[in-house]
Formats: sequence, structure tokens, C-alpha cells
Amino acid sequence: PARSPAAEGATPAMAQWFAAKADHPDALVFFRMGDFYELFFGDAEAAAAALDIALTKRGEHAGEPIPMCGVPVHAAESYLARLIRRGFRVAVAEQMEDPKTRTGKTPIRREVVRLITPGTLTEEALLEPGRPNLLLALVPTEGRIGAAWLDVSTGAFETQALHADALPAALGRIDPAEILAPAVLPLGEWEGRRAPEQRATPAAVARRRLAETFHAASLDAFGNFSDVEAVAALQALDYVRATQAGKLPLLSRPAPLGEAGRLELDGATRASLEILRARDGGTTHTLVAAVQRTLTAAGARLLAEWLAAPLTDPAAIGARQESWAWLLVNPAAATALRAALRRAPDMARALARLSLGRGGPRDLGALRDGLAAAAEAEAALEGTLPALLAEARAALPVAPALRAELNAALAEPVPARLEDGAIATGFDAELDAERSLRDDSRRVVATLQLDYAQKYGVASLKIRHHAQLGYVIEAPAAAVEKLRAHPDLTLRQGMANGARFSSPELSDLDRRITEAADRAAVRERAVFAHLVTAALHESEVLAGCAAALALLDVAQSAAALAAPGTWCRPEVTDTAAFQVTAGRHPVVEAALAGTIAFVPNDCDLSPGRRVLLLTGPNMAGKSTYLRQNALIVVLAQAGLPVPATAARIGVVDRLFSRVGASDDLARGRSTFMVEMTETAAILHQAGPRSLAVIDEIGRGTATLDGLAIAWAVLEALHNAARCRVIFATHFHELARLEGELAHLAPYSMRVKEWKGEVVFLHEVAAGAAGRSWGVHVARLAGVPAPVVRRAGTLLAALERRAGDLTDAGALPLFAAATPAAAEPEPRPPATPETLPPADPLREELAAIDPDCLTPREALEALYRLRALL
Ligand code: ADP
Repeated sequence: PARSPAAEGATPAMAQWFAAKADHPDALVFFRMGDFYELFFGDAEAAAAALDIALTKRGEHAGEPIPMCGVPVHAAESYLARLIRRGFRVAVAEQMEDPKTRTGKTPIRREVVRLITPGTLTEEALLEPGRPNLLLALVPTEGRIGAAWLDVSTGAFETQALHADALPAALGRIDPAEILAPAVLPLGEWEGRRAPEQRATPAAVARRRLAETFHAASLDAFGNFSDVEAVAALQALDYVRATQAGKLPLLSRPAPLGEAGRLELDGATRASLEILRARDGGTTHTLVAAVQRTLTAAGARLLAEWLAAPLTDPAAIGARQESWAWLLVNPAAATALRAALRRAPDMARALARLSLGRGGPRDLGALRDGLAAAAEAEAALEGTLPALLAEARAALPVAPALRAELNAALAEPVPARLEDGAIATGFDAELDAERSLRDDSRRVVATLQLDYAQKYGVASLKIRHHAQLGYVIEAPAAAVEKLRAHPDLTLRQGMANGARFSSPELSDLDRRITEAADRAAVRERAVFAHLVTAALHESEVLAGCAAALALLDVAQSAAALAAPGTWCRPEVTDTAAFQVTAGRHPVVEAALAGTIAFVPNDCDLSPGRRVLLLTGPNMAGKSTYLRQNALIVVLAQAGLPVPATAARIGVVDRLFSRVGASDDLARGRSTFMVEMTETAAILHQAGPRSLAVIDEIGRGTATLDGLAIAWAVLEALHNAARCRVIFATHFHELARLEGELAHLAPYSMRVKEWKGEVVFLHEVAAGAAGRSWGVHVARLAGVPAPVVRRAGTLLAALERRAGDLTDAGALPLFAAATPAAAEPEPRPPATPETLPPADPLREELAAIDPDCLTPREALEALYRLRALL
């Protein structure tokens, strides 16, 4: 992002900066200078603006002052977090020599030790605890795209070969924080997450290097990878390696996901269903928020994964169901398990930080406490367990030696910094010895202070430690002359209200204490390094243990959801069934909680009635009903309980939801265009095992156009795609298609009129809506009374006219059932006999085309309109 001048004539330190910048032109360089990271030139300007910090100047380059800003090292994480969130990448250049021990006059050597990018984060402060943080690499060839994604913060690593047209759905599912892709591959709405382009390696090389990295003779040991998957996997791996300055974090072996097994949800469907994110970008009104009862961050991440990628294999879904169903009938075990999970920290992310040499004592503490929680969880799960729970339980009791060592080695609670006593006393004899020397010396200081006070006859004398002078005597002004007379004491520094003195004894003590403290610190670091090595030695089983705890957490979360009895275990089969009894919308229900009761509704899309046509006015609850049934599919196939008293779902392979599509004005497409593009996608992709829930097709255009299009789409879904459909429309004329389309079942939202007001019952009832209620809704929304009255008169007249025409032999539009008939016939002209007179003001106004008027004409039109009043 930075604009910077040429490097010629730079000072030695600035020359290092220019070198770092040349290596990382698209990153901000955080250049370590003492206690600050400093930024220069264009970097400084960009960062100062983004962080709202002062932009200053330091020195000169090429005769110009150098723009500069800086952030203190100890607070760097929060600044980094803000920069990363704003889409910056940061290269961190550290001092590679200790300024204290350095000899010679050359500037301190600095090197870029890390590149911080959105997809390669490990710091707790930069990560969302309950969400994966994925880096995705995409390698396209003809028709196929190799995809590999990994999470540096947990070590997860998966690959898949995608059909090119499945890319948008995959992006929606994986939701990567950063994407490596060749510039020729368009990423659509994900464009903003693109990283600079990387070089691709030949497949054979990629296979060999992956195998080497994971210590296997051949990549085949981990599963069947296509060439593009292997190339993508290596690309992701190399990128991570580059960002971590050559270090590779702990990663699980890459696992090929294969073709099978996932419910396909495209981007529009995900947006419409608000599974992990709401349309407003928030997480409060989302499916995940409504069902999440997890107790750990790792559990929350796994639950989000389940919801983002529901399964299609009934056996695999059943296995997940078994795990929570068991906890439901073993409540004591569930309670004990929850107690254990509440104590379980985020082991996976702690392990990732440790593996990159970026871990602290608390990360070791997380492993210690995680292992303790695992032991408790293991004890909680007694008896004959279903497969997933048994598997998880078996992964819990691991690394007993490490656990014992961490228990003995770490203080409780563990301080954040090693030097604050993270290593417990009694663990390492050498460390204890150095420490007691250091601490004894401190005691010596106290004694010495008393001695000196007596010896020199100055009761208020103090021995203090001073950053530059070391240990000194501080005496008040009144005593200074007295002490100056003493040959043992040297005046070091005058102060406003006294002076500082040193003595040979104090200097000696100072040296001894510093040495002991240094030796203690060195030993402390050695003990810490030993513990880290010991932990990383067990990394594989620790990662397995963390994954098992996450699974147990998701299982108990599902059991907690189902425990009150208002959520059920759906029957998921390989059939075309679809029967939901008393289903509810989990998010709307949660939002209504405490106000009005949510009205449950059945849904039956069994063969013979698989196209449900739902009519009813706005605000009657149509979109809620559509979405709730789509969400029930997502939950059921994720293996979770569903909000209904009973449900039988034949596995859905692709789910389409087009409900409440918003205008896509930012991309310059009209509502209608978006609607038609999305409709086209459904018509192309939906098959007999799919489910489409579609709201108000044709709303974005003129009435007859809209009706014609809605009709044609409904027919195509019914006859060609042959999928299960819930189709909501305010065109209640469509219900007349019942006779034409064998599998169509008309339903309507029940509405009743009470004392001149509409009351929405939110009940879905068999049969078409008797009439339109739009005029009533207009009143409800506060449209002024005269306009509502006028609309009422017009409606009555229009209905009379439509009735006449139908009696006379139906509108031509309703006669044929082929899409060709969707060309709307010209509408009979409105005559004074069929319509009451409209007002001239409106007519005049309607005749004006503002785009064709000169300012002068506009003014004249305004006068004309005024005259009509
Ligand atoms: P439509 O799509 O017909 O315009 P919505 O589905 O948006 O209507 O529903 C309008 C409002 O009615 C919702 O925001 C919700 O508050 C309420 N609502 C919808 N369905 C139900 C229901 N089954 N029980 C209770 N309230 C409901």
C-alpha cells in the first residue's frame, strides 16, 4: 500500500528498512526500534490514518523529512488487530541482536521474522474464539479447481477437488479469511480476501514435498489426492511457511474431503438463511446463535463447521444424532461432562502458538488444564457408548507423563509472563537455587539499609534500585553533607530534595543480584523451552484430545437443546420424504421470546404434494415459514435436533433459499435482475433430491410480467426440476394451477378481519387465500387514510372487472400451461365503466418524465401541477 522513495543515500538503519520493504512491498513494515515498532513513509501515512495515531517526522531522506509513526511493542497486538481487520498485511522486522550485549558500531541487525496476514493468525487477540480462521488455496485446471484450506490457529488441513461451478458454494461453506488464487480466477464477492499471487509447483514436486513435510513415503498414505489438490495443498503450506519466516506450525496431515457427503448451499442461500452471519453482518440473529449451547471455543468452532457443511449420508447423520441422544438419556453423564468442559481451555490454539515459538506460559497452562478436563470428561462417560462418543472418549486419556510434568512445573494460576513466576518452586532444583540467591540478596538489601541508617546516623536513608545507577543510597537534603564527608560513599546524582550515593559494598551486591537474577531468568527460559519441547512431542495426541473435547462439547450442546422436549431428533432417510410436524423458526422464535408465542406449523412435501404453493398477504408469516423449513433441513443434516415435534426428512442434496433477497444496488444490478439471476441458478441446478424455498418471485417487475414469470418458474420446478418446493407468492391467482400441476398443493396464511382490522394468525392452512389483504396491510403500515380508501375503491373495481373477465372465459394468461404462454397478452384498456375516475393531479404527475425535462420545463410543470390543486 505504501509509496516510498528510492533507497539511495539512506542511513544504515533506514537501509535495513528499505530492504525489508523491498521484500514485502504489499505489507506495512513494523520496524522494531527499542520499545516501539515504527513505520515510515507511505506505510506511516496509511497506518496513522487507519489507526488514528499521530503522524510525525524523523530525520531526513533525500533532503525530505521522513514521515513516521509508531506503536509501543507491548500494545502492538491491538494495533495489529485493527490493521488486519482493515485488510492490511504487516511485516514485522525485529532486532536480531541484543542492544545491551552488542559490540561495534554497526546498526543492530533487523530481520522480518513474520508476515501477519488475515489467514495466518495465531494470536488470541486477533482471532474470533468460536470461528475457524482459514487460509484457502485454489488451483484451477480445465473444469476443476483444486482447493486446500488450513487453519494455522488449530492445525486443521483439508483438500477437495471442486467442479468449477461449485466454487461459489465452496467459498460460502469455507468462508476463508484469505485466499490464494491465480489472478485469472474471479472470486466474486470474496475478491477482497485475495492475497498476492503465488507460484504453482508441478504436481509431482508438490506430492513429494507434502509427503516429506508430513514424514510419509508417499502422499497416498493420507488418502486420494488429485493433482490439483496436492498443488493447492503445497501452495497453502508454502505460504504459511513464508509468513512465519520459514517455521511451519503444527498441522494435521492434509485430509482429502472427496466429492461426497455435503449438502450444497450456494452463497445466496447462505445469506438468506443467516446460518453463521446475519445479513447485517452481526451474529445475534443467526441459526448458530439460536442453537449454540457449547461451553468451549473449540466446541463453538466445530458446531459452526457442522452448520456450514451439513452432511448427506443418513448413516453419518445418524451417528451424530446418536451421540447427543445418548447424553439425553444419560443426564448424569451429561452433567459431569459439562462440568469437565467448563474447565477446558482452547488447547488447539495454544498448541498452534507453542509450535510457532509464539506461546507463553498460559499456553502450557491451557494444555495442563485441558488434559485435566479430558480426564474428567473420560470419567464422566461410563457405559456402552455410541460410536462417536466412544471414539472421542478413547482420544481423551493421552500424554500422562506430560500431564504430570506440567502439573508439577507450572504455577497455579499461571501468570502471562514467564518472568512473573510461571515455573513453580520445587520443580527444578537449579532454578530454585538461582531464585533463592536472587531473593536472598533482596533480603540482604533490606538488612543493609538498616545497617547504613545506623552507621551513618541517617534514619531516613533508603536503598533503592535505580535503572541506570543500580543500587544506591537515597538520602534527604538535610543528610547530604554528612554523607558526602564519608570516604566510602560516592555522590552519584543530586536530586531536588536530596542525593544518591553509591558504595563499593552496594556495587558488589548489585552485581551479585543482577547475576543471580540473570541466571534465574536463563534457567527459567531453559525450563520453559524443555516443557514446550515435551508438549510438542505429544502434539498429535494433544490435537486429537482437543478435537475429542470439541466433539463432546457439540454433542452436549445438542443434548441441551433437545432436553426441554421442544426440539426433536429428526428421522433422516434416503427417501423423498418431507414431513415436519409443528415446526418453528428457531431465530424468530428466540427473538419473539417473552412477547408473543410463536405459532408452530406443519409442512408436508411428500411425493404427490411436493410443491407447496403458499399465498397470503405481506406480514402474514410466509417468509418465516419458508425459512424455518429450510433451516430444519440444515439442522437435520448437520446431525442436530430440529425445532419441531416430529420430522421425517429425505436427504436433500442441494438446498436453495430465495427469501427476502435484498437489492444488490452496490453491484449495479436491479432487484429484478438479481431475482432472475438467482432463479436461473435454481432452474439449472435443482434436481429431484433438492429443496427450493422461494419467496415472491416476480415481485421486482410489473404485475402481469411478474405473475407470468412466477407461473413459468413454478411450472418448471414442478415439471423439469421435479424437486421439493415451497413457493410463496402474493399472486393468489396462481392457486388456480392446482388442477394443472399434479404435485401442487395450495396453502395460505390464515388472516382474519376483526373490527375492520386485519389480524395475522401465522397459521398455514390448506387451500388458497380467499382475497388479497394488501390494502389492509397498507393501513397497518401507516399509509394515510385517504390513500387507503382510494386504494380500497380501486381494488373493488378491479376485482369486479377481473371477475367479469373470468366469467367471460378466463384471462388468456391463465388458459395455457406452457412457458410460451408466459408472454403477457395486452391488458384490456381501463374504461370509465370499469374504473372509477382517478384524479387529474396524479395523471398529470404520472405523465412527467423528469429525465427529459429541462430545468425550465420542470419549473413550468410545477406551476401546472400547482394549478390543478
Ligand atoms: P411475510 O413473509 O408474509 O411478509 P414474515 O414471515 O416476514 O411475513 O413475518 C412477519 C412477522 O410476523 C415476523 O417478523 C414475525 O414477527 C411474525 N411471525 C411470522 N411467523 C410467525 C409465527 N409462526 N408465529 C408468530 N409470529 C410470526
